Amino acid sequence: MAELEGLEFGKSDFVLLDEVTMEQFMENLRLRFEKGRIYTYIGEVVVSVNPYRQMDIYGKDTIEAYRGRELYENPPHLYAVSDAAYKAMKRRAKDTCIVISGESGAGKTEASKYIMQYIAAITNPSQRAEVESVKNVLLKSNCVLEAFGNAKTNRNDNSSRFGKYMDINFNFNGDPTGGHINNYLLEKVRGKMVEAATVIIINFFTVISALEVIGFSKEEINSIYQILASILLLGNLQFESDGESVQILGQEAVNQISELTATEPESVSKTLLYRTVATGGGEVIEKGHTEQQACFGRDAFAKALYERLFGWIVGRINTVIEVKDYNPVLHGKNTVIGVLDIYGFEIFDNNSFEQFCINYCNEKLQQLFIELILQQEQAEYQREGITWQHIDYFNNQIIVDLVEQPHKGIISILDEACLTVGNVTDTVCLDSMDTKLAQHPHYTSRKLSPSDKSMEFQKHFRIRHYAGDVTYSVEGILDKNKDLLFQDFKRLMYNSTNPVLKEMWPDGQLSITEVTKRPLTAATLFKNSIVALVDKLACKEPYYVRCIKPNEMKSPMLFDDARCQHQVAYLGLLENVMVRRAGFAYRQPYARFLQRYKMTCEYTWPNHLMASDREAVEAIVTQHGFQDDVAYGHTKLFVRTPRSLFTLEQERAALI
Ligand code: ADP
Ligand code: MG
Repeated sequence: MAELEGLEFGKSDFVLLDEVTMEQFMENLRLRFEKGRIYTYIGEVVVSVNPYRQMDIYGKDTIEAYRGRELYENPPHLYAVSDAAYKAMKRRAKDTCIVISGESGAGKTEASKYIMQYIAAITNPSQRAEVESVKNVLLKSNCVLEAFGNAKTNRNDNSSRFGKYMDINFNFNGDPTGGHINNYLLEKVRGKMVEAATVIIINFFTVISALEVIGFSKEEINSIYQILASILLLGNLQFESDGESVQILGQEAVNQISELTATEPESVSKTLLYRTVATGGGEVIEKGHTEQQACFGRDAFAKALYERLFGWIVGRINTVIEVKDYNPVLHGKNTVIGVLDIYGFEIFDNNSFEQFCINYCNEKLQQLFIELILQQEQAEYQREGITWQHIDYFNNQIIVDLVEQPHKGIISILDEACLTVGNVTDTVCLDSMDTKLAQHPHYTSRKLSPSDKSMEFQKHFRIRHYAGDVTYSVEGILDKNKDLLFQDFKRLMYNSTNPVLKEMWPDGQLSITEVTKRPLTAATLFKNSIVALVDKLACKEPYYVRCIKPNEMKSPMLFDDARCQHQVAYLGLLENVMVRRAGFAYRQPYARFLQRYKMTCEYTWPNHLMASDREAVEAIVTQHGFQDDVAYGHTKLFVRTPRSLFTLEQERAALI
């Protein structure tokens, strides 16, 4: 047991730090990383540092060691948290979720795979074929989504980033019966889709076998390949302009695209060069693109092809894995473990719309964290009649409101600018934010803080996030929010004779005069999906994994202090420790506590003669001298620091 290994490996739980300071936190994190201890707790939260090397801690033996055990019985591990989530789900019929966050390359996806593997390993002991097939499909779906959502190149780790939420459903036996996936796709730049498509086509064979296992037909797999190839070709397509009109360079690419998408070459060329517009008088005319518009249209088309393909694949997978024929009367309560793999708080040298969305998402998750952990905690102390020491924590509701409030929030202001007819520029939009948000304590800009030397640039605004200040550029923000795709592209795809492609573009049936409703903006769609996500998580018992990338070199040796400290700060880990320390790290019903430790006290072994289990537990606690470290609730014993438990565990181990 790591807890008993001694302190040369550092402290296995940050709540055991002598003082909660950044220095001590970092020292412990570094020491543990250097000793090959990549996991450390903050209470029940797992902090994980990417080892960038194969660790011998994921084998069958390890799984057995964690199976059915309590958190404090073993060294910190993802398996312990997976088991806790599984136990809560199986024994108490609670829906649970595991939230994994961290920056790109921090090890989130690996963590989600280990969690799924653990759950797969400990379920279906009787190897029933139908359960095995569900498990197989769930694991393979992960593989496909990774290929499409996270296509990475060696050169560029910062390619498409997305968030993925997967519900795994369980029957009353605790065996998986199906699942559901939600994806939260965010793209850095339109052109990145081409890169992503390239990567998938280099690795397509592994993807094909996964697609086949899931149940995609030959035609579907073929269509996926054709769409990816079209995206690649679009990436290479260039235009030239003689000042008057614009032409496509190279008819060959157009012919190939038309063949791959089962459309006419003339329609492809026309759609790339013209758009249909409805005039005020209801007349429909064709307007030629400028070279710039043609490039914009091409990139938006490539992006939309990719996004719709991805969305369609997720939808197809969901129809395969959804729980069928479940009858709660016959089968008992259907319970769920959700696994969320999502980018953490992001701050770059240049922050734009994407960081704004990601950071908003993290504000929401932080709020949920505060709500669930603190408020639940408080409620339990109240129920148990334990005095609650008020913790002064920062409630970030005010920042969430700054972003999402109707009419006044930043998203509303962006949307309004996007919907205004005429030429609202990014700068005009910034002016509007400055006017409406001038009084907001978490918002500022160059104009509002002229004396602030750190606000160098005109086209920026700054949000004071819970995790720190982030300065965002408004350059291109309206285009990104509009996420505009000319209707002509949608029609082109809808008119494809390939049924798979047609299915992805149902909105292409509308003609330009029928397209009256403005599509929802990217920010609003993202907001809606995050609100729905938070609703899903809010009704579950949460477990957290916080991932840290130790260096930029993918080196197993290097612990870059500055980079790590930055992440510790942005993941809010110190606050996390403070919250945990302010309360009680551990609690257990009297009867269970007694059952486990009664052999460590002469008055309780083999049976106690006291009036209640509570008194018997008091005897154990007093005999070991940690009465100052506990509080007695109505039904449970509360222990402030896990240290007392280590002592008991040690004694217990020596006696049995
Ligand atoms: P993220 O999903 O956060 O972007 P990944 O989970 O894809 O990051 O991890 C990036 C890379 O780091 C992996 O491809 C793997 O090489 C390495 N890695 C991450 N976690 C582990 C681990 N637990 N053990 C070994 N290598 C890991
Ligand atoms: Mg990932």
